[in-house]
Amino acid sequence: MLTQPEDNHVVWLDGAFVPWREATMHISDHHFGAGVFEGVRAYASDSGANLFRLAEHTNRLFGSARILNMRIPEQFNRDCLNQAQVDVLKRNGFKNAYLRPFVYYAGFGGLAPSTRGLSVRVAVMALAWSDAGVFGKAQQEGRSLALRTSSFARPPANAVFVKAKANANYLNGILAIEEARSAGADDALLLDQAGFVTETSGANLFLVRGGTLYTPPLTSVLEGITRSTVIALAKEAGIAVLEQQLKREDAYLADEVFLTGTAVEVVPVREVDQRQIGKGSCGPITERLRAAYVSHVRARGAYRAEWLTPV
Ligand code: PMP
Repeated sequence: MLTQPEDNHVVWLDGAFVPWREATMHISDHHFGAGVFEGVRAYASDSGANLFRLAEHTNRLFGSARILNMRIPEQFNRDCLNQAQVDVLKRNGFKNAYLRPFVYYAGFGGLAPSTRGLSVRVAVMALAWSDAGVFGKAQQEGRSLALRTSSFARPPANAVFVKAKANANYLNGILAIEEARSAGADDALLLDQAGFVTETSGANLFLVRGGTLYTPPLTSVLEGITRSTVIALAKEAGIAVLEQQLKREDAYLADEVFLTGTAVEVVPVREVDQRQIGKGSCGPITERLRAAYVSHVRARGAYRAEWLTPV
């Protein structure tokens, strides 16, 4: 879980460190949600802290900006952003942390929802992460999540682009998770326009059936970095992985369902639309992949050094 920021914490803003409280925007700044961001984790290990799959997150940030045709100022290139993330952790003294790099528009652009004439700013915010929180607790206590199919669909292929991790895309996720929570579930299961399963408000979804792992194709889901990590770990463990269209009833009939994401890591789903999944607890394949994921992020056992950036 994220811990509260403190007054002595700093944010990286356009190349400089700014005290937490001074890292603000003006009320007139572009407020239509045209911006992009990332969510990155740093983990303590026996040999110091590491950022997990930093290069992939930075590449996705630049890809998201390209999709929106946002011009990131040249001096803030990938190397600069990678270094900024290492530096912001060091300056704050964080080992376990969640980072939010942002690229956003500043300035008042008039009444039309246009971005012409606005400046592009870049920031990296970091918050210390404590394992005592909701997601950490879910994993530590073997708890799991309940999903509810949403009345909100994922946008079609030619509307807002779901491959961009764009601020405005999250309005749909907010509507969906709030609806799910009102119905007593933990998160929403969003379907695409044709009714196929996509992902939740902030995580990718996997099913296990007959020992095989299934996940929706990348057509209408975010290209999750945890998703790609888990696919690699499953293949390494000799578990077959199929990326294919899935229907709600595939989830109902699954032996196991789990979610993947930088924040949730690998978390079991116990229930979809009030139908219990498997035994209603963490299944064996989910547990195996969860444990493998934790070893890799925490640099324990046989981890991949190329996925870790030392802080
Ligand atoms: N889908 C959505 C909509 C998300 O916001 C996230 C979190 N970034 C994910 C999937 C999982 O992506 P990742 O594993 O890269 O965190």
